[in-house]
Amino acid sequence: MKVLVINCGSSSLKYRMIETDTKEVICKGLCERIGIGGGHFKYDVTGSDKGFEKDVEFPDHNTAVDTLIKAVTDPDTGVVSDVSEIGAVGHRLVHGGDKFTEATYITPDVMTVIEECSSLAPLHNPANIQGIRACRKVMPETPMVGVFDTAFHQTLPEKAYLYGIPYEYYEKYGIRKFGFHGMSHEYVARETAAIMGKDIKDLKTIVCHLGNGASITAVKGGKSVDTSMGYTPLDGIIMGTRCGSLDPEIVHAMADKTGGSMEDVMQVLNFKSGLFGLSGNISSDMRDIEEAYESGNEAAIRAFDTYIYSIVKYIGSYLAVLGGADAITFTAGIGENSPFVRKHICSYLEGLGVRLDAEANEKGRGARCISADGSAIKVYTIPTDEEMSIALSTVEVVNRHNV
Ligand code: ADP
Repeated sequence: MKVLVINCGSSSLKYRMIETDTKEVICKGLCERIGIGGGHFKYDVTGSDKGFEKDVEFPDHNTAVDTLIKAVTDPDTGVVSDVSEIGAVGHRLVHGGDKFTEATYITPDVMTVIEECSSLAPLHNPANIQGIRACRKVMPETPMVGVFDTAFHQTLPEKAYLYGIPYEYYEKYGIRKFGFHGMSHEYVARETAAIMGKDIKDLKTIVCHLGNGASITAVKGGKSVDTSMGYTPLDGIIMGTRCGSLDPEIVHAMADKTGGSMEDVMQVLNFKSGLFGLSGNISSDMRDIEEAYESGNEAAIRAFDTYIYSIVKYIGSYLAVLGGADAITFTAGIGENSPFVRKHICSYLEGLGVRLDAEANEKGRGARCISADGSAIKVYTIPTDEEMSIALSTVEVVNRHNV
């Protein structure tokens, strides 16, 4: 089935068309600067020079979807002759609260519930909803499926998702751990089982999704049992610009000492902290931090060491939660591309019998085992593919719906 995957932000729309039978990406692209002027459209067709890019004004998400549908159906540039060849649209949705435990066929009733979840992700869900509406307009007959970032973590047991605050805050206001990057963790856990030749039901793995945003998940038998992000994506390990978990009194102290408002403090914790803040504003980008580290820059070394330490603590706690693990898998921008980060994390784990294969870690490419023979826990790096994960879930839901 040809699935169009849509990832809609407030001012951008990323898309990808995937033939799910062969897992082939047919075309992909991006609509940038929606609703803010100076829009730009990118369209790539795999193995062909039919693709193009051009400046287009996108007053709203409808124009963005119109432009991409025109490109994919156009006799000169298209990859399908008619929209009816697109079997389904899979929408990436950030927050499904505790209402959605899996990818879901979008009906008018489901739309209402997605809208109700908007207060949990005010920056993301409204844009996601506009994407669905815009696609509905041009493809009224095409099945639409919502795939939620939070759904994979709905298997967390109560003891993992509750915070140590009065229970009524959970009951009345729904304050609990949700976890994020679910599609990536699920996809990478499945791929880890595949590369190990194991049934996922028998696998205990710790997935380290290390990108700008980053989270770590303990996966047992294919289900998320704990994850480092929390009620929001601010919690957990230290990230590019986010602080990760900290003593909540610090929020109060920061406001008090700077005379700033709660909003000001939250801005600092979200956008000026993490590697960026710890390094004295060198960069939130790991490549810059590594370069500065190698040249002996003390601020970069401090930021890097603190970052690694925060990751190791989560891995340690998830080893305890899982009662040991068969595998630790690294993914996302840093996890896939930084042998330096992987080496530093794994050197902490040597006492637990983890042994990296230095050559596989440094020189290999793509999905692979990077631990040495005899390592007590196998270590992998596996490229994440959230769009593929969305496309495959979409087909599953559509097929189930049609039965
Ligand atoms: P997000 O999707 O959360 O924006 P990504 O998964 O794209 O983030 O990861 C971005 C991070 O990956 C950046 O910190 C970037 O420096 C890092 N990264 C990308 N390539 C490399 C590399 N070769 N070495 C080290 N870090 C890298």
